[in-house]
Amino acid sequence: MNQVLVLGAGQLARMMALAGAPLNINVIAYDVTTTNVVHPLTQQCQSLSLIEAIAAADVITAEFEHIPDAILNLCAASGKFKPHPDAIKAGGDRRIEKNLLNNAQVANAPYHIINSRADLDAAITAIGLPLVLKSALGGYDGKGQWRLKTRDQIESVWNEMAQCIAASDNQAIVAEKFIGFDREVSLIGARNAKGEIKTYTLSENVHTDGVLSLSTAIVGDSALQQQAQQMFTAVAKQLNYIGVLALEFFEVNGQLLVNEIAPRVHNSGHWTQQGAETCQFENHLRAVCDLPLGGTDLIRPSAMINILGQDSVPEAVLALENCHVHWYGKEKRDGRKMGHINVCAATPELLQYQLMLLGQILPPQYFPALPH
Ligand code: ATP
Ligand code: MG
Repeated sequence: MNQVLVLGAGQLARMMALAGAPLNINVIAYDVTTTNVVHPLTQQCQSLSLIEAIAAADVITAEFEHIPDAILNLCAASGKFKPHPDAIKAGGDRRIEKNLLNNAQVANAPYHIINSRADLDAAITAIGLPLVLKSALGGYDGKGQWRLKTRDQIESVWNEMAQCIAASDNQAIVAEKFIGFDREVSLIGARNAKGEIKTYTLSENVHTDGVLSLSTAIVGDSALQQQAQQMFTAVAKQLNYIGVLALEFFEVNGQLLVNEIAPRVHNSGHWTQQGAETCQFENHLRAVCDLPLGGTDLIRPSAMINILGQDSVPEAVLALENCHVHWYGKEKRDGRKMGHINVCAATPELLQYQLMLLGQILPPQYFPALPH
């Protein structure tokens, strides 16, 4: 029996717990917000302090990158934390992330760091408009971002950014060139302590209002897959990475630019639960527990639809062939990631047909990425 402590007690820890059970891997979770150690499925408090949970764990890992330094350092000092805390820091601070991408020599959007109004002017001169402006710390699901399209918006955007910079320690803004991408894709893969790497099929991702809504495995684009795998290997090696890592890309004329990394299992990899030989959650646990990695081959065309702000879907969804609903057991809140639907089919064409059928069942206002 392996005991794994996960920092973060959300749906990713929950799905790790579900994937770990058949391997006799027991997952407990540390809720950074409440500072309770909880059961990742029931959220029941485990009456363990963090120190006790660290002592009881064989391995410690994380389901998100915005972890207070003190907690990360405490876990790292036990020698049990995987991946290396530097990977978590790179995922949580866009300044460190940009340095990492450049050191690994992978293409990414030109950028400029902004701490002051003069820096903003320098960014506009260096990169030009439009700019995408992102808080260096604490951003997720498109939060903490601004778009600066025209010069007359400079004052109002700067006022908001200045407030964001002042609101927390060590905060800054990373200004990026706006990339007119053809589409967004991501690559998820696992690397173990021996340096073995297995990557999944690329995923095409559709965002709505900054939040992922639909991910579809990209069947049969070997050139793009190879390009992504090469960039993945460069970043994973640079970090001496152990665990599952996700790279988000912009695709422009068949060329990939890395948008950002996530040092963890990733929303765009949820389809691997039904579409891959071994799901991303199991492979993350295998990697951090120093077990052989499982196969990552795509077993059938697959897609994932996020359920946002809804705590039920019509039963007709379950009646569709090869449709699986995964709920996270969370309280309903507008726009919140409440669960997801995985759908698979024998061919990409049949998968599109399945998505169309789902689009007829599910309301367009909550599932805008589906064909309606
Ligand atoms: P998430 O947590 O969902 O991955 P995030 O808050 O970490 O999101 P990003 O992934 O950096 O932020 O940006 C969110 C979305 O904004 C991207 O998926 C993309 O659609 C758009 N975006 C980000 N950077 C750029 C850019 N430089 N040019 C054009 N669009 C961008
Ligand atoms: Mg992103």
